Amino acid sequence: MTPHLLLVEDEEAISLPLRDRLVRNGYTVDVAMDGHTALDLATTAVYQLILLDIQLPGKSGLDVCRDLRQRGIQTPILMLTAFGETTDKVLGLKLGADDYLAKPFDNAELLARIEALLRRAAPAPSTILAIGPIRIDLRAATVQLNGQPVTLSAREFQVLAYFAARPGVLVTREELLTEVWGYDPQMSTRTVDVHIGWLRQKLEQDPKNPTLFVTRIGLGYQFVPPVKAV
Ligand code: CA
Repeated sequence: MTPHLLLVEDEEAISLPLRDRLVRNGYTVDVAMDGHTALDLATTAVYQLILLDIQLPGKSGLDVCRDLRQRGIQTPILMLTAFGETTDKVLGLKLGADDYLAKPFDNAELLARIEALLRRAAPAPSTILAIGPIRIDLRAATVQLNGQPVTLSAREFQVLAYFAARPGVLVTREELLTEVWGYDPQMSTRTVDVHIGWLRQKLEQDPKNPTLFVTRIGLGYQFVPPVKAV
């Protein structure tokens, strides 16, 4: 997909050559010449990035930035500030801009900044852990076993996620209490055993003879990734 940029700049001497340059670099570009148009466009079309001049007729770039963020629009914003206007830079970042570049800027640097912001905003890599027949979606906090959803409590999910990130590693009850429950001297390690029991009921083929959450007597538990039965 071609990244779609909104260029907000009222000086044609800057905006026209810059737009051509961006198009030559593979972007599609809309241009707004004042703050109100910028806000209208940015709230109605989907952009991957907004290049936002500060000194604009109608509504300043800082106001546009603030209004967009207040409306929940999280499109990355690269502020184009006049040379030496440090307060504008600081204010822009406080209002939710992601980066700034002082005019006059070097085109190569602008292109590099744009690429960096687009990379940063790209969707995070998959958060699905596939462990034998178990699929754990860390972001959605959901679990499937053999393609069927499994209902876990929040704590059970946290315990499972903790083990799943450490396959084969011996985990002590104290470590689990500290890392998953948050250390509380009143809490009994028995709590851990109860939760492991529940997870076994929900995820083990034979909960009475667990092969997934294996007890290491006197030590703790070990999560042994299963091999899917053929
Ligand atoms: Ca301007």
